[in-house]
Amino acid sequence: DTQNDRSITFTPSLSNTVEKLKQSPAKRNEETGVKRKRDAKDGCIPLRFGKLHLTVSLLSEQTWCEKKVVYGFLRPQIKKKDKQRIEVKTGASIHLARELEVHDVVQINIQSHEDAVAISLISVLNMIPWLETGQCVRELPVFGVVEGVYIKGVIDELSYNQKGELVLKELKTRKQDSLPGDSQAYGHRFQVGLYKLLFDALVRGEVKKEHVLEHLKLRAYQALGAEVITYATNVGINVVTFGELLDTFLLTLSCSDLPCIDVLQLEYCHQGSSSIIGTVLVQFDESQLRAELRGYLEYWRGQREPKGVDIEEAWKCTSCAYEGICDWRKNRSQVLESLHTRMRVNMN
Ligand code: SF4
Repeated sequence: DTQNDRSITFTPSLSNTVEKLKQSPAKRNEETGVKRKRDAKDGCIPLRFGKLHLTVSLLSEQTWCEKKVVYGFLRPQIKKKDKQRIEVKTGASIHLARELEVHDVVQINIQSHEDAVAISLISVLNMIPWLETGQCVRELPVFGVVEGVYIKGVIDELSYNQKGELVLKELKTRKQDSLPGDSQAYGHRFQVGLYKLLFDALVRGEVKKEHVLEHLKLRAYQALGAEVITYATNVGINVVTFGELLDTFLLTLSCSDLPCIDVLQLEYCHQGSSSIIGTVLVQFDESQLRAELRGYLEYWRGQREPKGVDIEEAWKCTSCAYEGICDWRKNRSQVLESLHTRMRVNMN
């Protein structure tokens, strides 16, 4: 019985009914992404595009170019096409193959937003005993409130090294057989730093029931869907409502003796040959990471407009799917053009 021998990762299977759940009930202004004021009444800070939470991946993309992230929301068709690039697909299949080495992946039909979050909670509950007994887990969901915003993500891999330290390993696949340049590497360091912040807060018991319920606007009394209850039971969790599951989750974490993450590691793998290009250790500086995060969150809170790339990083635009429509790039070209004209006039 594979379910007894291997850990399981649950993924939500979106039926037609549930597709509708993906459409945010919050009305928003498509151009500015600013959510209506009424959503701020429960004390949670309203975010652009009606978002209730941000993901680690989205914040890491923001380190590359904020404008690009915004265009991803405004022009989803272009984003969809960009995601179908061969290297993106290859990267995803390498990740899945790695996950399948240690987990079985089970699709579960969900009926509500609460079901979708419940699946993450069950996945973590299922992986805790594996970690406690020193084994490796992959695709571990993490979440929590950082700098006032609910952030969630999925850790590629957690395992212990020979010194008994808990090591986070993030796999990055690359088309080129070389380590990334500074700009890309910065985003990767930021990403694993955020994972550590979220994981450590979870094991320290800093994530509270009201964080999940209020930020995600979930109902504790909501009965879980039949498939979710079945899979919870299969891993030894007997619950009926979302609130019961959340209580079980928080209690189990507080009683576990899981350590904080000791080592952050980035592993770069060449897509063509599947060989490892190199492994990079990342230093964790919490105050610097939080300061950088606050800077990025200013945009999401509507405190400033989105920024495009710096002039020294204009090379990023040449491979950008939004190059043709980007007003930041257009404005910058016009500024450069007028500067050149002025220089030519002065020289004459
Ligand atoms: Fe950012 Fe350049 Fe793309 Fe505009 S064209 S979204 S500035 S990378």
